[in-house]
Amino acid sequence: MKDDLVLRVRKDLCLGCGLCAESCPRQAISLPSGQAQIDQNRCNRCGLCLDVCPQGAITELTPVSRRELQAAVTGLKDRTEDILARIERLKGNSDRAKQDER
Ligand code: SF4
Ligand code: SF4
Repeated sequence: MKDDLVLRVRKDLCLGCGLCAESCPRQAISLPSGQAQIDQNRCNRCGLCLDVCPQGAITELTPVSRRELQAAVTGLKDRTEDILARIERLKGNSDRAKQDER
């Protein structure tokens, strides 16, 4: 697994069976309130807990930097503006066509 991955436990799926904690070679998983919780400082991203969880409750997250997030938002905004401009052009064409028919 990549070093920059962060593991997260999905509370809606975790049954608290403890299999992940038993399999963890770094004792990074505890079940403080009946559900698994991962200590990111202890975790070495070996991936064993992902494999043993019968619920698929442990998922990988890739941290995104503020810069990457801003670039994604800007790209989305640009695409949205482009689509809106196209819709306006199409509406204009349609209105002109209706006027020509009269
Ligand atoms: S193995 Fe899965 S279901 Fe069991 S405690 Fe760990 S995360 Fe929860
Ligand atoms: S990835 Fe490895 S070290 Fe990290 S919590 Fe899971 S089993 Fe433990």
